[in-house]
Amino acid sequence: MDEPNMSNVELLSERINRIKPSPSMAAKALVDKLRADGRDIIDFTIGEPDLPTPQHIVDAAVVALRAGDTRYTASSGTPALRKAIATKLARDNGLTYTAENIVVGSGGKHVIFHAFAVTLNPGDEVIIHAPYWVSYPDMVVVNDGTPVIVAGDEASGFKLSPEELEAAITPRTKWLILNTPNNPTGAVYTEDELIALGKVLERHPHVWVMSDEIYEHFVYGGAQHISPVLAIPAIKERSLLINGASKGYSMTGWRLGYGAGPTVLVNAISKLISQTTTCPSSISQAAAIAAFLGSQDAPRNAGRVFEQRGKLMADLLKDARGVSVRPPTGAFYVYPSVAGLIGKTTPAGHILKSDLDVVNYFTESAGVATLDGSAYGVGPYLRFSFATAELAIRDGCSRIVEACLALK
Ligand code: PMP
Ligand code: GLU
Repeated sequence: MDEPNMSNVELLSERINRIKPSPSMAAKALVDKLRADGRDIIDFTIGEPDLPTPQHIVDAAVVALRAGDTRYTASSGTPALRKAIATKLARDNGLTYTAENIVVGSGGKHVIFHAFAVTLNPGDEVIIHAPYWVSYPDMVVVNDGTPVIVAGDEASGFKLSPEELEAAITPRTKWLILNTPNNPTGAVYTEDELIALGKVLERHPHVWVMSDEIYEHFVYGGAQHISPVLAIPAIKERSLLINGASKGYSMTGWRLGYGAGPTVLVNAISKLISQTTTCPSSISQAAAIAAFLGSQDAPRNAGRVFEQRGKLMADLLKDARGVSVRPPTGAFYVYPSVAGLIGKTTPAGHILKSDLDVVNYFTESAGVATLDGSAYGVGPYLRFSFATAELAIRDGCSRIVEACLALK
């Protein structure tokens, strides 16, 4: 079709020009394109389980479809689903919420975005510990807020310390984001670490906490997921717990997530949803009831499968010269340092100057797609997703080992 005769500057808002496309989604798009062009690419980019949605969940969706459950629902989600989520939060997380405290959205991402949209005024600050999930800062920025990035490091296990939190809080702080288990590092906060952060938060009652627990089912080597909202009772009345069906139940495409928190906040999110997406998909909501109330074997089994794969990937990457990897403790990512590759020269004569250069080298020369840690706020690291088949992990890692050996 003909394109309009105007520049992007004339058409597009200042708001949209503040942000970039999601790097993880852009990486996935690149993999799709390279494959369509006939390239043999092993994909370690996108963080989504390769396992099928459990059959009883699919069956519940089919029943809902056949029963004509195909209309708009309440903007905050069906009463039955919100009740099921309250039941799940009590059962799995030891937290008491009523259905009125819960708002269902089209993915956890959707709820996070709406939460920022209904709470941030220009200049309000959101504390984000790096490395962070790529979408947090841009979701803050597009909603007029200011991300306050606290740089984390490997020495502290990529975890926020109470001292760092204290130093980052100002009178303009609106939110602290806590993400445990963490994307991209897999870090899992212990109860004691959360209690220590809680002591700081108790001194600053104006700070709200967004507790992103989307990877709760994936904790390894004896680590345990404890909700920050449980560990720090003082924040319950000023927190929004984010979770959803995507990761634990292999339901990324169903787009179903939720937030739990005080009614003043969830009602505002629901009001905005009534003006944006109206409500989440009715079919996905019916399926999610089966996910949250039915057998919990699937997330348990997925956790075991991912633990094996994570161990395998970390073991195989140990043989990659210049790559330094720790075994994962949670989520489905390893986050190895590639400091040992910076400054090396590729067979084509290019010097690797950054982790993005390393990503491009692995994609081009080995056909293995990964993400650069710099996109997550801390380089030179790479993020590898191990939510993929064992065969692909073996093949991809041996290609990386070869590609590292070829560097001078
Ligand atoms: N939080 C984190 C840390 C994530 O990695 C994701 C994955 N996209 C989400 C939230 C949201 O997932 P979804 O929108 O599929 O529920
Ligand atoms: N959270 C996943 C990832 O980090 C899915 C993609 C996204 O929403 O960013 O890869």
